[in-house]
Amino acid sequence: MTELRAKLTSIWEGDVLWERPMAEYSTIRVGGPAAALVEPASLAELLRLVRGLRQHGLPWLVVGGGSNILVADQGFAGVVVLLGRALATISGPVAAGDGQLVTVEAGCSLAKLVAWGAERGLSGLEFAAGIPGSVGGAVVMNAGAWGGEMAERIVAVTVIDRQGESADLAREAIPFGYRSWGLGDHIVASATLAFTRGERQAIEATCRELARRRRETQPLGLPSAGSFFKNPPGLAAGRLIEQANLKGQRIGGAMVSEKHANFLVNVGGATARDFLDLMRLVQERVAQAYGVQLEPEVRIIGVPE
Ligand SMILES: Cc1cc2nc3c(=O)[nH]c(=O)nc-3n(C[C@H](O)[C@H](O)[C@H](O)COP(=O)(O)OP(=O)(O)OC[C@H]3O[C@@H](n4cnc5c(N)ncnc54)[C@H](O)[C@@H]3O)c2cc1C
Repeated sequence: MTELRAKLTSIWEGDVLWERPMAEYSTIRVGGPAAALVEPASLAELLRLVRGLRQHGLPWLVVGGGSNILVADQGFAGVVVLLGRALATISGPVAAGDGQLVTVEAGCSLAKLVAWGAERGLSGLEFAAGIPGSVGGAVVMNAGAWGGEMAERIVAVTVIDRQGESADLAREAIPFGYRSWGLGDHIVASATLAFTRGERQAIEATCRELARRRRETQPLGLPSAGSFFKNPPGLAAGRLIEQANLKGQRIGGAMVSEKHANFLVNVGGATARDFLDLMRLVQERVAQAYGVQLEPEVRIIGVPE
C-alpha cells in the first residue's frame, strides 16, 4: 500500500481518495475499498495517468457510473480510474449526410445525453432512456433495451490502449457483440454517435413511455446492477429464473427480485459474498432444471479465481 501510494503520488498531482469503499461507487451498493480512486478531468490527464500507471506497473481499472459492477468485499488492490462525472463534454450536432453527429466524452451520463438529444430534436437514443451509468460504460457494455443498442448509433470511438496510446476507431473496427464491445483492455475516452432529426415532443414522449414501462417491470426502488445475467441465445434469463421458482430467494441481504427475476437486489446490508452465493445458487438451479448455464452480465471485480 505504501509502495502504491508513493508510486501514484509520483505520477498524479490531482486529488486521490484512499481506501474508499466501492459500495459508494456502485449502484448495487456492495464492495470493499479500492486502494486509490482518481478522477481525470481531461483527455490529456487521462493519457498521462494511464502512461504513469503502466510505467510503474500499478494495477488499475476504469469505473463509470458503477451500474454494472459487483466488487468483492475485499475490494480492489489497485487504482480505480473514475470516468463517471468529469470528462463529460457533449459537442455537436454536426450534419453529415442524413445524420447528425454528436461527440460525447466517456464520463457523461447516458441519461444526460438522451435528454440533451431530445431537447434538440435529435432522435436515436430513445431506447436508452432509463439506462443508468456513463456513456463510456454504455459503449463497453453495448448497452441496449427494447430492441436498440449502442452499437447501432456509434460512428467512431476514441480509445486509449493499455500502453497509454490513443486512437480513433471507426465503428467497423469494433467487434461489438451482445452486451460487449469486444475490446476488453481499452478505455473509451469519447464516442461519436449518429442521430437523426425528429420532433422534440415525440422523442420526449417515447422516452417517458419507456421509462414508465421500466418502472412497471423493474424493481427500481432497490439497489441493483440491472439484469444480473445475460439472456442465453433465444431465451430470457428472467423467465428461466422465475420458472425455477427462485423469485424471492434470498441469501443474506441479496434477493432475487419478486418483480423481475433477472434483478438481484440489495434488500439491506448485503455483502458481495451474498450476491456471489445467490448468483451461484441461481446458476445451479437453472442448470439443473433446464440444462442452461447462465452467465453474469454484471462485471465481477476483485474476486480471486
Ligand atoms: C436499474 C438498472 C437498469 C439497467 N438497465 C439496463 C438496460 O436496459 N440495458 C443495459 O444494457 N444495461 C442496463 N443496466 C446495466 C448498466 O446500466 C449498463 O451496462 C451501463 O451501460 C453501464 O455503464 P456504467 O458507466 O455504469 O458502467 P460501470 O458499471 O461503471 O462499468 C461496467 C464495465 O465497463 C467498464 N467501463 C466503464 N467505463 C469505461 C470506459 N470509459 N472505458 C473502458 N471501460 C469502461 C468497467 O471497467 C466495467 O467493466 C441497468 C442497470 C441498472 C442498475
